[in-house]
Amino acid sequence: MDGTGLPETRSTCPYCGVGCGVLLRPDGQGGLDVRGDPEHPANYGRLCSKGSALAETVGLEQRLLTPMVDGKPAAWDDTLQLVADRFSQTIADHGPDSVAFYVSGQLLTEDYYVANKLMKGFIGSANIDTNSRLCMASSVAGHKRAFGTDTVPGTYEDLEEADLIVLVGSNLAWCHPVLYQRILAARKARGTKLVVIDPRRTASCDGADMHLALQPGSDVALFNRLLVTLYEGGALDAAYLAHTNGFDDALNAAFADSTAPCGLTEDEITAFCNLWMGTEKVVTIYSQGVNQSTSGSDKVNAILNCHLATGRIGTPGCGPLSVTGQPNAMGGREVGGLANMLACHLDLENADHRTAVRDFWQAPQMPHAAGLKAVDMFKAVGDGRIKALWIIHTNPAVSMPEAGAVRDAIAGCPFTVVSDITAQTDTARLADVLLPASAWAEKDGTVTNSDRTISRQRSVLSAPGEARPDWDILSEVGRRMGFARAFDYTSPGEIFREYAALSGIAGQFGRDFDISGFADISDSDYIQLAPVRWPVTPDRTGGRFFADGAYYHGDGKARLLPVTWRPPASETGPRFPYRLNTGRLRDQWHTMTRTALSQRLSAHLPEPFLDIHPEDAAAEGIDASDLVEVTSRTGTCILRARLSDTVQRGQVFAPMHWTGETAPSARIDTLVAAMTDPVSGQPESKASVVAVRPYKAA
Ligand code: SF4
Repeated sequence: MDGTGLPETRSTCPYCGVGCGVLLRPDGQGGLDVRGDPEHPANYGRLCSKGSALAETVGLEQRLLTPMVDGKPAAWDDTLQLVADRFSQTIADHGPDSVAFYVSGQLLTEDYYVANKLMKGFIGSANIDTNSRLCMASSVAGHKRAFGTDTVPGTYEDLEEADLIVLVGSNLAWCHPVLYQRILAARKARGTKLVVIDPRRTASCDGADMHLALQPGSDVALFNRLLVTLYEGGALDAAYLAHTNGFDDALNAAFADSTAPCGLTEDEITAFCNLWMGTEKVVTIYSQGVNQSTSGSDKVNAILNCHLATGRIGTPGCGPLSVTGQPNAMGGREVGGLANMLACHLDLENADHRTAVRDFWQAPQMPHAAGLKAVDMFKAVGDGRIKALWIIHTNPAVSMPEAGAVRDAIAGCPFTVVSDITAQTDTARLADVLLPASAWAEKDGTVTNSDRTISRQRSVLSAPGEARPDWDILSEVGRRMGFARAFDYTSPGEIFREYAALSGIAGQFGRDFDISGFADISDSDYIQLAPVRWPVTPDRTGGRFFADGAYYHGDGKARLLPVTWRPPASETGPRFPYRLNTGRLRDQWHTMTRTALSQRLSAHLPEPFLDIHPEDAAAEGIDASDLVEVTSRTGTCILRARLSDTVQRGQVFAPMHWTGETAPSARIDTLVAAMTDPVSGQPESKASVVAVRPYKAA
């Protein structure tokens, strides 16, 4: 209760992977009062600008309130039957791999679990992938290669215990602001050093001791130099290396890479390497600048190599920490919501794991091989291999690379279903069937943040119109496809219990993702569930991983990977002389479906723009605030030029938020080539090549 006498409800912010706790109180007029939860371990009461403006984004403007079929309102019963029939008929005619689900890190874990179970266990295809593929798939791949599972070693408390924090490819100040606030507080309290490694001089550099403006894509070269420095400086931890394999090969690769260009001076490299080597407690945080690359997985492993070689992992104040963009990217990973994974850190391509999950689900069939990852999925939609597609809470017609081609592919798909809170997205406009889904403050379930903390999201507002929760919609379709018993769920708590029971199987295979202690959780305890970090087994509750040197490869050891620098896949040249970096703004989220509803947030940077170095602008005949035409092999955008030395010469930056609805000429991902990391399948969203010239209206 607060002073008004109305109860507050604990929930979780629906934006980034920090996963801040919020206290919500309905204002009695359909709106909310929102404040940071002082007891939530992610934020202890802090909120950023987006979290603080949540109350301004829960209105019903633009909400989809009823099912729509071919642009006309329809009854739920008829619509669900239509979806089930069309998917069943497509599978009967063309096989299970002719259908696909493209889902989202906005889904709650229970929603994700049901979608994954329906596709992998009952439809019998692994064609379920997620927009988290665009966010952290390279970190998943790097973790699995090094540790044997996708396990994040560290915790947020490490930020308060570290003596050096290195941000790699992460504008934490804007994209994970509450973590940045925690770092600034630690700097004030104990003098923590902060290094930012980023081609751009971002807001995160304002509070840093060192900014290393390396060349795009050259992180592997820099961290290989660090590994060589650690070796030559006698800074390896021989005792910890006994828990690893592959050091000699990794070091040889690092030596071979030692003259690779990374755009930094020798003094800068030496200063960074010596600072890292001379500091016992180091946390390396990395995000999209590392992940969104055709060498993203190798970049992750180059970072992990340095932590493993020095034993700087799993102990207070030490370790690599991948931060996810989306609120429940981690929950999606945990339930196997990617085309190449099973739930609870089990592997789709491991026959024993597959059989165990199939038996648990009593599923008729399980795919034996990975399904189509996001970029390949939309190529398969475009060339006709996918004939029925269900897109849930995401806007690929704007956010996928080569977004123009993706839009054409969706438009040409024989049957497209979109579940969302609004019909006003570029993707929703292409759907044959629109399903009205409950929004954030109307949903019940759990999410997992970037340090493995599982938190409840709680419903405080009634869903408007005929909107329904995603787990309910998915279950209904599953039942109508003939799988009544498997999808007979009546509440998210019931799904959580089943998922927790399934995680006990992971424990049998030596995986630490075991939350089976919750398999019998009562409805009231689920309703009350406080934030809890896994592992939740009695001996390791909430702790850090890997301090004991125990890993998940068959031999129990970690692996250092031999990785060498590769340039970005697209080369600059006379036709496309600039390298385009894309990213996020402080006050916008994804394709602005919600944040654009807040005038306060929209006022921060109200129109699309291109940052270009003043000397490049002069060479192109561009003045400040001119409109410029930005062209790549795949698209053209018209943007407002901002002359800025935050970008290096030869590089330009543009935010990715604007859509066909808000700014038709500023759909940045139409410019981004669909080049992907060969291991993770994550696209290279930060190193496309473009031409820039003054815009002349026709
Ligand atoms: Fe929400 Fe992320 Fe801001 Fe926290 S840091 S309030 S989770 S957007």
